Amino acid sequence: MTLIDLRSDVKTLPSPGMLQAMATARLGDEQAGEDPTVRELEDELAGLLGQETAVFVPSATMANLIALLCQVRPGEEVLGHEHGHLFRYEAGGGAALASAVLTGLAGEDGWFPGSLVREHAQITDSTHQPRTSLVVAENTHNTAGGRVWPLRQLDELYRTCGELRLPVHLDGSRLFNAAVATGVPAGQIAGGATTVAVCFSKGLGCPGGAALAGSAQVLAPARRIKQMLGGSMRQAGVLAAAARYALRHNIDRLADDHRAAQALARRLHEGGFAVDPARVETNFVLLDLAGRGIERSAALARLAEAGVPWSSGHRRTVIRAVTHLGTPAGAIDDAADRIIHALRQAEQRT
Ligand SMILES: *Cc1c(COP(=O)(O)O)cnc(C)c1O
Repeated sequence: MTLIDLRSDVKTLPSPGMLQAMATARLGDEQAGEDPTVRELEDELAGLLGQETAVFVPSATMANLIALLCQVRPGEEVLGHEHGHLFRYEAGGGAALASAVLTGLAGEDGWFPGSLVREHAQITDSTHQPRTSLVVAENTHNTAGGRVWPLRQLDELYRTCGELRLPVHLDGSRLFNAAVATGVPAGQIAGGATTVAVCFSKGLGCPGGAALAGSAQVLAPARRIKQMLGGSMRQAGVLAAAARYALRHNIDRLADDHRAAQALARRLHEGGFAVDPARVETNFVLLDLAGRGIERSAALARLAEAGVPWSSGHRRTVIRAVTHLGTPAGAIDDAADRIIHALRQAEQRT
């Protein structure tokens, strides 16, 4: 029985071509700015995202944190989606390390309208309210199920924030999934953002690494802050080489992951499970167990035993599958059979 690991797209292993690129990369001391491969990656990525500059960092969590530290002073407010990664899955770093007031906005599919920002933002100084100084948009949106910000809405957000003179940080950890799903270049999607985080260790298939791109003026303190956080590296070109390889070879193929997720969603929907294929826009499939009388932990245990592990969704009754380049080609029908069998078994045992 082959393992089809659907827990997350962070479970990918570097491909032979990527390992080859890593093995032959030119290297130097990244902290001193001497790693040529890191510098090439930073220039290339800034160009690709339509931004002035980019800084290579170990993780997208650090990229998000540096974005806050560059743009938010202690006690100032950051508006973003209430279930956003930066708000719920970064161990409170925004509060603990950037002293930011994180105010979550509602939005069913991971996005919120510009008008909601206009309603909430405290722009002028007040003796009471924290001053709003940054808006975060996450695209694709993780906890909503890999959902893509509708472009019209994102442009509306950029426009509103422009009028309010609020910078927008785009958590684009899966920005390239959004680009492939919409057919719109990443640089165009990210064009209105002041800073953009991207992650190389998700669907792009790298063993680590992320970057923060943005305005040179805003990111002027970024390298110093990265040093402060312990994010400076040495011969980081081994990781940057993987990232450069991924930018060349692993973006277009994200469409395969999206097709696989769509196929899986359809099979599960036809099998009578609460999966909505219309909400599967990229590489995530959410399945709601509510009303089926199965504990989520029991369902996850059965799926793992069947060699098709899923992970927990953000909501308590929801489980999540994520397709990626480690999902064996043509494995989806086999996976769907095993998933349906495992979940029915779990139901019978309760
Ligand atoms: C994974 C993820 C991050 C953090 O990325 P790491 O590189 O694992 O730190 C940030 N934002 C979103 C939306 C993510 O999915």
